[in-house]
Amino acid sequence: MNHPYCILIHYHEISIKGDNRQWFEKIFARNVRKHIKGLPSTSVEVFAARVFIYGVNEVKWQEYADRLKHVMGLMNAHLVVRAPAELDVIKSISEELISNKSFDTFRVSARRQYKSFPLTSHQINMEVGAYLQPLCNKPVKLKGADLDVKIELVKGTAYIGVNRMRGFGGLPVGSGEKAISLISSGIDSPVSSFEMIKRGVNLSYVHFHSAPATNLQSIRNVKEILGVLAQYQLRCELYNVPLLDIQQTIMNNAPNKLWVILFRRAMVRLATDVANTINAPALITGENVGQVASQTLSNIRATGDATDLPILRPLAGMNKEDIVNRAKEIDTYEISIEPYQDCCSFFVPIHPETKADLQSVQKIESNIDFGTQFKDAITNMERELIVAKQLVKLEKSKDK
Ligand code: ATP
Ligand code: MG
Repeated sequence: MNHPYCILIHYHEISIKGDNRQWFEKIFARNVRKHIKGLPSTSVEVFAARVFIYGVNEVKWQEYADRLKHVMGLMNAHLVVRAPAELDVIKSISEELISNKSFDTFRVSARRQYKSFPLTSHQINMEVGAYLQPLCNKPVKLKGADLDVKIELVKGTAYIGVNRMRGFGGLPVGSGEKAISLISSGIDSPVSSFEMIKRGVNLSYVHFHSAPATNLQSIRNVKEILGVLAQYQLRCELYNVPLLDIQQTIMNNAPNKLWVILFRRAMVRLATDVANTINAPALITGENVGQVASQTLSNIRATGDATDLPILRPLAGMNKEDIVNRAKEIDTYEISIEPYQDCCSFFVPIHPETKADLQSVQKIESNIDFGTQFKDAITNMERELIVAKQLVKLEKSKDK
């Protein structure tokens, strides 16, 4: 091919951001640069509500696509050839591109930002389709074609491609503020974290463990899950907080039906302390209304009462099947189903409270003397930085 390849990216909701659009675009383009680090490129530029990656190696398209899938805010990306916007040139490039593809049906999808081009998008589709059809001898299919020849005309230049990937959409990470996500190694909280990263929020994570009463598998699983989530938000902090002493005090001083609620209130209180130290204005959990006995509205109220920060619950209204599918899609599911000892389920009584009465919970809790246990838990928590594996590799190779 005599013309250079580049990658053309369409972003998602940023286009409706009005006056703030440039600010969002800047963050998005910066994130694209970070995500493709280590792959060939000469520059990443925002142009006409699109982002272009120039100087790419087309042979590595699949590697770019895998990285771009993790960039929040991205709607889709095409590997395209860049050429002058002339019909003959567009036809011959399209011909060359489809010649190394196997397909049974095809279509042409033109889009024209460059309005002074003599043909409308529809006319381009007709012209190029009629040119390609006898060459490949395959029928055109407008819905669900195997191969889509994408032609985009932007300011005097044509971009033509047959390879596309789709992203998750949403908003670029870093365009929202910070939040603390309470993460277990179950199925739900990794998904709820992902949903918030997808809204542009920068997450730090708090995980509670009951070592040495439980083994350290939950911490290992959480780190593995964060390795996956770090594909979407390239760097994050994990705070591992010991909960055992507080749990024991609760078990020694409260009726067993209330243990889980009091554990949860302790978690929320400690997570709030961490949130305050990093100026994060919200907490995130994977709670889902009615999923388990402990997640009734009364119990959710009794948990939320332990903090003055808002608790966002992105999964509140989702069905379990949809959560599981999402976990599979974002690659956390396989890790979440690994066995582990959870700090709460380990001590769960047979009949936990399903409809906590807030006033009696508050009363029982206020009579428990925790001494310095809350302060100690924060003093003894361990902080760890988790970095996307491709960046760790790059940093290591630089050090050599
Ligand atoms: P998950 O699948 O996320 O564990 P779950 O359906 O098992 O959720 P619960 O165990 O009741 O539900 O937990 C509800 C929420 O409380 C979790 O989604 C998570 O946000 C938080 N949470 C539970 N256990 C822990 C933990 N050990 N450390 C940090 N947060 C936790
Ligand atoms: Mg759980």
